[in-house]
Amino acid sequence: MGNINAWAQVGRARFWQSWLQEPTFSADTLGRVHALLDANGLRQGIHHVYERLKRNKALPDIYGLGVVVLDGHESHASYLRHCSGCLQRIIHCGGRDRLQYYHRQVTLLLLPGALPGREAVRLLLDHEPQRPGEDEVETALRLLARVIPAYPRAFDLVLADALYAKAPFFNFLLARGKHALVVLKEERRNLYQDVAGLFDHVAPQQGRYRSRQCLWCFLATGAGPGARHSFPGDLHGTPATRQAGRSTKQ
Ligand SMILES: [Zn+2]
Repeated sequence: MGNINAWAQVGRARFWQSWLQEPTFSADTLGRVHALLDANGLRQGIHHVYERLKRNKALPDIYGLGVVVLDGHESHASYLRHCSGCLQRIIHCGGRDRLQYYHRQVTLLLLPGALPGREAVRLLLDHEPQRPGEDEVETALRLLARVIPAYPRAFDLVLADALYAKAPFFNFLLARGKHALVVLKEERRNLYQDVAGLFDHVAPQQGRYRSRQCLWCFLATGAGPGARHSFPGDLHGTPATRQAGRSTKQ
């Protein structure tokens, strides 16, 4: 559903009567119940599920690493309705500009390996709404600052898309003993050239990503905390750039 009010139409379908075995609830009730949800109680519930799964060995590492995926998701957008937490953007449409309101959350998903003969578990650990005036990386750092103390040994490696190839993100994780693996796109010329320069020292390996041929380049983040370098604000021309990066094109 695009929004809660759509339930007023969708909820009339006969399917719900037979599936729920009782009359459906109203769109107002759906909104009211969600507004009453206690976020901290929900987080504690997720943590409880995580602990049980971990104790029962249902969350195996991938090649010895605990892995999480960090990503931003838009939940809904509207030209008409908005709240104090809405983000805003201008949409160019039909030769005119319109102000659109939307919400985006950054989510952290645990990505354990699969047990033999089983589907891998995908456990959403937590999420954080992006606030007006901040970028997605700032939101992600606030999320990680809450999750890392709550799940200190749940993951070693954070996967993220090209948006996160920024110094504050790498430095935040390195300072907490975590590794990062981000997508590098050629639009980020400076950073891409830095990493391409490192291919001279660390030979990339031929690999595949989905159906595409690609080069994988694994660059160590150092053997211990003392070996780690900080990323300067501007990554251009810094031979100390250390990261695990992936080139998506040949
Ligand atoms: Zn809003």
